[in-house]
Amino acid sequence: MPLVTTEGFRLIPSNETSVSAESINDRFVNLSGDAQAEALRDKLADLDLIRIEFGSFADGRGFSLAKRLRNYGYKGHLRASGHVISDQFRYALDCGFDDVEISDELARRQPEADWVSDRATPVSYIERLRGRGSSIVAQLKEKYVSQDGVFEQQVTHVKHYTDGLFSFRVTRPSSFRFRSGEFVMIGMPNAEKPIFRAYSIASPSWDDELEFYSIKVPDGPLTEHLQHVAVGDTVLVRKKATGTLVADALTPAKRLYLLATGTGMAPFASLIRDPYVYEKFEQVVLTHSCRDHNELTYGREAVGRAKADPLVGEAAQRKLIFYPTTTRETGPRMGRITLHIETGELFRSLDLPRFDAANDRAMICGSLPMVHDTKALLEAAGLTEGSNSRPGDFVVERAFVE
Ligand SMILES: Cc1cc2nc3c(=O)[nH]c(=O)nc-3n(C[C@H](O)[C@H](O)[C@H](O)COP(=O)(O)OP(=O)(O)OC[C@H]3O[C@@H](n4cnc5c(N)ncnc54)[C@H](O)[C@@H]3O)c2cc1C
Repeated sequence: MPLVTTEGFRLIPSNETSVSAESINDRFVNLSGDAQAEALRDKLADLDLIRIEFGSFADGRGFSLAKRLRNYGYKGHLRASGHVISDQFRYALDCGFDDVEISDELARRQPEADWVSDRATPVSYIERLRGRGSSIVAQLKEKYVSQDGVFEQQVTHVKHYTDGLFSFRVTRPSSFRFRSGEFVMIGMPNAEKPIFRAYSIASPSWDDELEFYSIKVPDGPLTEHLQHVAVGDTVLVRKKATGTLVADALTPAKRLYLLATGTGMAPFASLIRDPYVYEKFEQVVLTHSCRDHNELTYGREAVGRAKADPLVGEAAQRKLIFYPTTTRETGPRMGRITLHIETGELFRSLDLPRFDAANDRAMICGSLPMVHDTKALLEAAGLTEGSNSRPGDFVVERAFVE
């Protein structure tokens, strides 16, 4: 059985092959995805290797278990074993796994090149923890980190949706970490002192590239230049991502509402492709309100991509509901989302109960008035605002500053 590491395939060391399913000894533990991390909490410091078994490709519980073990401070080796495919490798590393043990049959179907691409070989958790990330990064010819802590990344894809909206993708620095839903400052190398603006990352945390969805502000200091980027151009990305629109800022519940206007769709395009969101919630309702139909295209495509995604597609098809509305152009569903909430139209047409604090959680991203009005409706239903440090029933972020 080969072991997939960030540097490619290798053989399992002989002292680790004796770890059989459900066995436990002083240093090695085998767990299934439904194991309770809490039960191991006191033993973690003594363990050299924890191996988590994945029973099927669609069962993502092992990823959450790995995250919890790392959150509890486990610093030893974490190995995924069984049904994990190459598309999930980046995500597995993000969750804290060091390597993945796969069957000979899978190794034949998905050879080494499928798992480890030259373009974006990630740095494993333990290498980051031990501070070896930088040497690995150097090895990978990470030449894009300039001295003031800004990554210079290359544009790989651009798509224009309307005269005022476009999306683009850039290469991802191999040491750049973020949680799905966060934003980062980006700029253009077009001036001695480039202007940076906040941008939600529209791709999920496990993706090999970073995607952004952008407005084109006429004479906008950044976007008057950014809107002309082409494949091969350079975009500057600051090193630290942050934000409140993350799944961990919400307490567990049955249903998640993602409520967006305009480019406020961007963080949700990231979240709807994150397996953690579908593990945490039974249902995800994404609403997007724009003036005209063609401004809804990016969100519609994001939903299509989530449903076709090898990692989350099956869960998204069962759990994700898209509810677009136009506020100016005539169409089948018109009006601001606040109106649809107030009149109950949102709930009636989806056959769902009205908001209640026991079952519903929400994230809001839009203009200041939209955030303000939607927040008031959630509070009137008894939901309370949360944050990274104090998870709650809903979180908000402005899509831009007026
Ligand atoms: C947390 C956060 C996340 C953001 N994420 C995104 C994102 O994912 N995509 C994005 O396009 N912008 C986003 N923005 C806005 C972004 O930072 C810039 O304002 C935008 O790129 C325009 O930059 P500019 O320098 O060209 O014009 P600015 O001088 O920044 O803006 C000029 C004016 O244009 C309007 N405006 C700016 N951005 C928008 C917008 N997105 N939608 C509608 N009107 C706007 C405002 O009235 C603003 O006063 C975000 C802002 C914040 C605070």
